[in-house]
Amino acid sequence: TRTPLIAGNWKMNLDHQQAIAFVQKLDWALKDAGHEAGSVEVALFPPFTGLRSVQTLISADKIAFAHGAQDVSAHDSGPYTGEVSGAFLKKLDCAYVIIGHSERRQHHAETDEIVGAKVSAALRHGLAPVICVGETAEDLEKHGASAVPAAQLRTALAGVSADAEIVVAYEPVWAIGSGQAATPEQAQEVCRALRGVIAGTLGEDAAARTRILYGGSVAAANIAGFMREPDVDGALVGGASLKVDEFAAIIRYQK
Ligand code: 13P
Repeated sequence: TRTPLIAGNWKMNLDHQQAIAFVQKLDWALKDAGHEAGSVEVALFPPFTGLRSVQTLISADKIAFAHGAQDVSAHDSGPYTGEVSGAFLKKLDCAYVIIGHSERRQHHAETDEIVGAKVSAALRHGLAPVICVGETAEDLEKHGASAVPAAQLRTALAGVSADAEIVVAYEPVWAIGSGQAATPEQAQEVCRALRGVIAGTLGEDAAARTRILYGGSVAAANIAGFMREPDVDGALVGGASLKVDEFAAIIRYQK
């Protein structure tokens, strides 16, 4: 009963004008293909500068995409130059916000504690956090696949209540942008372990309800294999979410 979620993380690509053109083309491509909105939830994550344009377009043209931001401040307002409050994202109709992407952990020194504080901030403002976890190639060699992502998720969920809407994204760092996706079996193993972490921290109901996505070199050619796994409820797509036809094919993985 978990609605599959196909999410496009644009990272630092597409300015606000390119974002408008992209959203229109994606909507047309899906409609041309006879895609039925509703069977799969589609969420787009533009850079902050594209959020207002995407919001306006989605609401004016009644396009059935959700949208969200790629990061949020742990603070609500005040002297935090360059930061963006969850309250502002909520006003732009964001449903989601990506938190703790490995690129932010790597390049912006985001720790599990910072990730936890941002998760709390998102929930305070009525945004569903898309909590990203994943092991590096070195972690994989030393600890196996599940240990690091499970520990990251446990810390991120420390302040979360059992009825909160969250999404978890398992993104092995070695698979991101490398063209070397995990196998469906590898993704399933870790996603199942992460569901166990949710059960242990938030309870069985939350574990049964929460969507867990796989991310890392997802493409039209490999999406169906991931979606067949019982604990993989969707995908967080980077590079392939910037190509209209390929992203449309990923959304239509059932066809
Ligand atoms: P790629 O799909 O480009 O590997 O990126 C995955 C990712 O980091 C999505 O958040």
